[in-house]
Amino acid sequence: MTSESKSPILVVENLRTVFHTPRGDVRAVDGVSFELRPGETLGLVGESGSGKSVLGRTVMGLISNDARTTVTGKVTLGGVDVHGVKRAVRRKLWGTEVAMVFQDPMTSLNPVKRIGTHLTETLRFHLRCTRKEAEERAVELLTQVGIPEPKRRMRQYPHEMSGGMRQRVVIAMALACDPRLLIADEPTTALDVTVQKQILDLLGNLTTERDMATVLVSHDLGAVAGRTDRVQVMYAGRTVEQGRTSEVFAAPTHPYTDALLASIPQIENAPHSLLRAIEGNPPDMANPPGGCRFAPRCGYADTTCTSDLPLLQPLAGPGRSVACHHPLLAGAAPVGSEHTHGR
Ligand code: SF4
Repeated sequence: MTSESKSPILVVENLRTVFHTPRGDVRAVDGVSFELRPGETLGLVGESGSGKSVLGRTVMGLISNDARTTVTGKVTLGGVDVHGVKRAVRRKLWGTEVAMVFQDPMTSLNPVKRIGTHLTETLRFHLRCTRKEAEERAVELLTQVGIPEPKRRMRQYPHEMSGGMRQRVVIAMALACDPRLLIADEPTTALDVTVQKQILDLLGNLTTERDMATVLVSHDLGAVAGRTDRVQVMYAGRTVEQGRTSEVFAAPTHPYTDALLASIPQIENAPHSLLRAIEGNPPDMANPPGGCRFAPRCGYADTTCTSDLPLLQPLAGPGRSVACHHPLLAGAAPVGSEHTHGR
């Protein structure tokens, strides 16, 4: 059975996360929808501040309604309305239905607890198993995530391990109770390049072996290329483009996606050539521009762009859509520019 023919594990419908701050309301996530099926990996990409991490945390239910935050829309995880149930019920979903890998393993691990304690505590809390059973399962998990000498490592403290090993421990903790959905929030940011590849390969293999759904949150398009089935590009809290990763990367239609891809250093570039950056900064989310939020940085902007907010519209291709008044076609050029678009 292909993943596309399976029922979705996760359905996100028109999700909005608004933080009420002294400077005004910040719409960190503004009307995002998507579905995810077993065995599928979705890449959530965008610059820092685009709302992707807040989206991941809201999906998991770590951010929910309180005096300073309003969450609207719906997140259905394994048939359960994540924000419609009591916190005690939501807590039971964490670990068993959904788990998260955070970007810095040092902040996910307690420096005064041994690695074995981190794992066995999680297992005993969720699975109500004996200490011995939990220890055996912990050793199994450490082996699965590629940690050598797992029995010896169980007795170590986090500071005795390298960054890559710590991140493997965090992944083992996340997988301890066989979650059906894994959200990996910038899981390789704190690691060097070779370890990044190992961790991303490990996550890919575990997704396939366990038939999990995985959301890979990253600012690094290189990390999601070839490792995700679909990609969702976010800007200022909104989805600006989505589709199959191979199709979006081969022919981006939103100027922001195109600019993100153009800013990836290429091996064939001449030595010392300047890196291409996206001009300007992401908007102040307490006071975003009217119309398209990317307009102040977009070379294709016109008066329609600055007055009307573009909505996601379907394009040719399964699940492909873009939120832009003037989606790019090959050879399109920025408004008022002689420059031929570089694709
Ligand atoms: Fe650029 Fe206009 Fe498209 Fe926004 S709607 S990305 S400003 S062309």
